[in-house]
Amino acid sequence: MTENKNHNAQRLNIEAVKRIVGTVRTTLGPMGMDKMMVDGGGNVIVTNDGATILRELDSAHPAAKMIVEVSKVQETNCYDGTTSSVVLAGQLLSNAEGLFDKGLHPNVVNKGYTKAQAMVLEELPNLIVEGDRSLQAIARTAITGKSLEASEDRVAQLCVDTIRAVGDAADVRVLAAPGGSLNDSYLFEGVVVNKDFVSTDGVFDGKSEVEVLFINSGLEEEKQDGNVQVQVDASSYSSLKKASREEMLESAKHIVASGAKAVFVRDGVHDTIVQYLHKRGIFVCRRVPSSTMKRLSNEFGVKPYHIPEEDMDVSKAVIERRKYNDVDYLFVSSSLASSEATLVLFGATQSTLDEVQRGFDDALGVVSLVANGDDICYGGGSTYLALASSLRSRAAEVGGRAQMAIESYADALESIPGTIAENAGHDALDTVLAMRHAGLPFGPDVESGGIMDMGESQVFEPMSLIRSAITSATEVTTAILRIDDIIGRRGE
Ligand code: ADP
Ligand code: MG
Repeated sequence: MTENKNHNAQRLNIEAVKRIVGTVRTTLGPMGMDKMMVDGGGNVIVTNDGATILRELDSAHPAAKMIVEVSKVQETNCYDGTTSSVVLAGQLLSNAEGLFDKGLHPNVVNKGYTKAQAMVLEELPNLIVEGDRSLQAIARTAITGKSLEASEDRVAQLCVDTIRAVGDAADVRVLAAPGGSLNDSYLFEGVVVNKDFVSTDGVFDGKSEVEVLFINSGLEEEKQDGNVQVQVDASSYSSLKKASREEMLESAKHIVASGAKAVFVRDGVHDTIVQYLHKRGIFVCRRVPSSTMKRLSNEFGVKPYHIPEEDMDVSKAVIERRKYNDVDYLFVSSSLASSEATLVLFGATQSTLDEVQRGFDDALGVVSLVANGDDICYGGGSTYLALASSLRSRAAEVGGRAQMAIESYADALESIPGTIAENAGHDALDTVLAMRHAGLPFGPDVESGGIMDMGESQVFEPMSLIRSAITSATEVTTAILRIDDIIGRRGE
């Protein structure tokens, strides 16, 4: 096979990537636009979130799929920065095309890009902003331009409070209720149990302080395993049944004796037992999902009993029933310093609420990164630009054709602040040139054009967000550039 001097496979892949990046590019930054996505069934999503757009995009091209992967990786690692990583990958690939035109081989481009990445990652720690790390500012940077912006301060504060209470974004529970104002959203320090698992009405209408018990199994007759057939005669069957009934009743008596006024049961509870307990003023919440059970046990610092036994210890709880959008929820909390928290979010409609939740996910994520020790850098693409400047000053160390690739890499980094400015209706090149001249901490002034101090305007982001965007964008770029043939596979 003769070598394809035009690098057609690469060019075809780059075209496909450019098209897909083109759709998310305009959402980048505080003035980025939203996308409305409609599926065959007429379902509509309105979002500004890069990862969501790409996930929903119906793209069949394999290279485009690789780009979608990048946004997913970025979202998993850092929660935010998905659009940035994709825009950067798109620009790196697009610049590679220019390098082919100048006669560079894809391998040379890859070599230069890989070298550039190493130099940039070496430089990044030098750009860390020392001093007070304001979690509010981190949250606000993630929120600007999202549907949450209207309640920016409230939302930023909620994110910070939530992470302080819970510790890590991965542990945050969210209850999203349509029909309300975002401003009324709040943090509940405790566990919310869905009404679906609550067996009766009319209890806990107000706030009640009660003794509670947690049982990690069920209070019902053993289920017959469908695959096993046991032959028993009529008399021994009824005695078997009676035995388990008696066992259940025994369990119920233990619950009554414990003095508990509410019992949370992991599995089913037989109706007769529910009735029995009810008559004695005990509220039963059955079929509590094991994840909720775990959180309840965490909240109260107790291990659930496996089965009811004698002399069980009860916990003191505050239980309140709240109704949102016609659904009943039980809000359960202990008097201990709360270890569980649930974010209760309101939004006008389900679709605005979904977008609110996506915005929260990003903001909670970045706050959690910084709260757990991540360093911070100036935002607005100013750090990318500073990395580009340092890269250019070092490109000559490498020399030869790879140096050209390194310069293209620097140009691609500058596309981040350039795109943020462009999406705000300002000139990308003017902004980039002004930023180069002023250096850090200057970034794009999205309101009135030109540049402004990112420190003064408190635009900060976690360093790992930038690092991860750079590594994932570079990785997918070099992977795509290594492909020199696209071959259809025989279906399975
Ligand atoms: P991503 O999916 O990459 O997070 P966003 O649309 O959320 O994309 O935009 C994030 C970019 O916008 C970051 O570079 C961030 O620093 C920047 N940004 C946020 N607020 C401002 C602001 N007030 N001025 C300039 N840039 C900002
Ligand atoms: Mg963002």
